[in-house]
Amino acid sequence: MSGGSVFHARNPRTGEQDYSFAVPTPVEIDEVVARARAAQVAWTAAGFAARIETLRAFGRELVARKAQIAAALEIDTGRRRIAAMEVDSVVGSIEGWAAIAPTLLPEGWTAGRGMPDVRHAPQWAPYALVGVVSPWNFPLLLGMIDAIPALVAGCAVIVKPSEVTPRFAAPVIEAINAVPGLADLLAILPGDGPVGQQIIDRVDCVCFTGSVPTGRKVAVQAASRLIPAFLELGGKDPLIILEGADLDAASDAALRGSVLSTGQACQSIERIYVARPIHDAFVAKLVEKAKAVRLNWPDISQGEIGPIIFDRQADILAGQIADALAKGARVHTGGRIETHGGGRWLLPTVLTDVTGDMAVICEETFGPILPVIAFDTVDEVVGLANDSEYGLSAAVFAQTPEAAEAVGRRLEAGAVSLNDAALTALFFEAAKQSFKASGLGPSRMGADGLQRFFRRKALIANTGRPIPISAFREEG
Ligand code: NAD
Repeated sequence: MSGGSVFHARNPRTGEQDYSFAVPTPVEIDEVVARARAAQVAWTAAGFAARIETLRAFGRELVARKAQIAAALEIDTGRRRIAAMEVDSVVGSIEGWAAIAPTLLPEGWTAGRGMPDVRHAPQWAPYALVGVVSPWNFPLLLGMIDAIPALVAGCAVIVKPSEVTPRFAAPVIEAINAVPGLADLLAILPGDGPVGQQIIDRVDCVCFTGSVPTGRKVAVQAASRLIPAFLELGGKDPLIILEGADLDAASDAALRGSVLSTGQACQSIERIYVARPIHDAFVAKLVEKAKAVRLNWPDISQGEIGPIIFDRQADILAGQIADALAKGARVHTGGRIETHGGGRWLLPTVLTDVTGDMAVICEETFGPILPVIAFDTVDEVVGLANDSEYGLSAAVFAQTPEAAEAVGRRLEAGAVSLNDAALTALFFEAAKQSFKASGLGPSRMGADGLQRFFRRKALIANTGRPIPISAFREEG
């Protein structure tokens, strides 16, 4: 696909290419960039309160079109409830940033310590134009998760959603167009990788959410332009279950953490380590609960698990299961990519007799596969959990919060859920950074989530007389 051509998107429930859109040409991208840069000057000058007012108006327009946006997301992703939740989440994030942003950008003069006559004040200078490149698993949420705080900061933003899930863009663009002035400041340009590259070539800062291989390319491109790249990449999150843990709670959390969104979430639980004495009891509970999970097929309003959104992802899951079986793993539930109505699906797949050389343990899965491994000591399991190129998030269950915390503090991961799993899918307030190959840059949550969109300037004022050059004369 190249600029100006028409791209066809596959419907994950039917397998049919039932949607097409024109990919923007470089000239069209140039025009969007020019309009955004021109509009951003007044946007940042308008001040925080005016920007929040505009974004609240955007939120109202999203709410007014919630049915259309959710319907488009439903086709993009093949799931209904989470589609509606994506819209709510974006509207909620506007209020969330409005509530905390004013406290995050302190201003005012501070007296100098080293030079008593010199005082200094910070100035927060937003990047003029931010590029957001997003993946297919939560098309709206991940398209807007960086865009909203960047707009609050006073930047203009261009979002490039994944070519796999482009349908939601049209009704969201309608909402943008309904807010006076916003269309110049917030553009959504669906397209493929080359469109992403062209956007990165034209912006001042890039926020990328996606896979590690693409993240590396984005990092190299950004480095060659000397612009910051904030990367939120893949994971291989471990869940550790220690002796004494509540197995009912642990199996509930493991299943939800692994299976929610059909496992198509960066913070999904993808490795489960269980203390040997409780391994069999835990697996029995997990298998029983996994067997109760249903596909949302044929009725999208029933069941817990949607289709595999990206066709090629189904091949990756099938390959990982085949590799595990060939190396001696045992399947307790699921285990087979099913085809219904042209879509491809996988029921929760609990695996035991799993070893560390299996792809299902070493590589990102991004699907509802739950490999379970027994361990003997805490040191051993901490080593196993940390033995990964990824370090996105992790989880620990123990008898007490203190025991879970003690192990959690030893894990090389940006977010550690204690006596739950994958809490970052539900709780957005805690600042966290990715470890190892799972990402780069300041936290997307908390104060850094806003402050990263500014360059810090220092205004340094001398209230006395400048020091003359003679003060530095060698003869002293
Ligand atoms: P991907 O890396 O294939 O694509 C992500 C985006 O990058 C898409 O919009 C794609 O068109 C674009 N792209 C492709 N090549 C590009 C290039 N050279 N330059 C610029 N843009 C380019 O990822 P995906 O398959 O869409 O998403 C799944 C991945 O995303 C998984 O690895 C998952 O773990 C990760 N993810 C991470 C987070 C997080 O917050 N850490 C959240 C969700 C998903």
